[in-house]
Amino acid sequence: MTQQKTALVLGAGGFIGSHMVKRLIQEGYWVRGVDLKYPEFSETMAHEFVAGDLRDQTLVESILTVNNTSFDQIYQFAADMGGAGYIFTDEHSADIMHNSASINLNVLDRQKKLNDSLGVNKTKIFYSSSACMYPERNQLDPNNPDCREESAYPAAPDSEYGWEKLFSERVYFAYNRNYGIPICVARYHNIFGPEGTWDGGKEKAPAAICRKVALLPEVGGGIEVWGDGLQTRSFLFIDECIEATRRLMDSDFMGPVNIGSEEMVTINELVKTAASVSGKVVTKLHKLDAPLGVRGRNSNNDLVREKLGWDYSQTLEEGIRKTYEWISTQITTRKLAERELTNV
Ligand code: NAD
Repeated sequence: MTQQKTALVLGAGGFIGSHMVKRLIQEGYWVRGVDLKYPEFSETMAHEFVAGDLRDQTLVESILTVNNTSFDQIYQFAADMGGAGYIFTDEHSADIMHNSASINLNVLDRQKKLNDSLGVNKTKIFYSSSACMYPERNQLDPNNPDCREESAYPAAPDSEYGWEKLFSERVYFAYNRNYGIPICVARYHNIFGPEGTWDGGKEKAPAAICRKVALLPEVGGGIEVWGDGLQTRSFLFIDECIEATRRLMDSDFMGPVNIGSEEMVTINELVKTAASVSGKVVTKLHKLDAPLGVRGRNSNNDLVREKLGWDYSQTLEEGIRKTYEWISTQITTRKLAERELTNV
């Protein structure tokens, strides 16, 4: 009889982590999730869920074994993060760097000690880095950003969030070289979709724009758009991100490798897509002093195509349609709940 594979998902209460838990369960893994909070929008499907703080070394030590053995795989998604309004204002930089670096250092240090004590070294760790680690100088031209993996150095990310990602990537590779810990690292480019944060200040552009459009009356109206809207980005739908991540984990390739879409659009085009999906007439009110990030960014998938045979396949419009519908339902559900509360 083959043994059931085991996976530990850190950040399992968050957007990508909760989707990964679902996928691993479908694949037959035994899964433990860990996060400060439970998933906001659906019940966790993990066999076990530990609500705990991964900055705490004792907590980390306590979650790394199941039945006295180490896990087959660890997915490390836990991080202090958010959209441009959270990571580009510099107001949260110290927390972002301290919290996220502490989690990564704890996970690697405790896994190494566990491997030493058990005399095994089988646990493969996935680390979710970000396109925010690429140097700003290569992302000044909105029509021609350069995000090839080898363009990372000399390093010059435009945010402390990006610097922490780069630092942590390096820590994972150092533990691999010095202690043989199997790892792989992906650089995600703007992942979006249902069950992602859609309000409250940590939401990212696709969710924020879908929410603003969904809140307009049926005839339409004006929404606030950060910047002149000519900044470019690409957005990858969550299911595709999960598929690429699973392929990476099951391959011999360590990365770092981009996981993103190459369908680059301006933010104005993103608004147009959300408007067309909604059927509303939307006008844009540009807020020019908003936090923005780099002027242009697009994934370069040459390496991921070569190494994993993976590429994005959904159009932005397909992903926005699913996300818009989900956010519209969230808004309706919340309104109904508020109405019920006021009627009590
Ligand atoms: P998310 O904020 O939804 O999930 C992160 C989770 O980590 C949250 O649930 C949070 O509670 C948890 N967490 C934070 N600090 C913790 C702590 N001290 N102890 C335990 N749990 C803690 O973010 P996401 O969009 O799911 O992103 C997952 C990972 O992918 C992050 O590392 C992020 O930096 C990276 N990433 C995401 C994107 C994207 O577009 N979503 C792009 C690039 C990289």
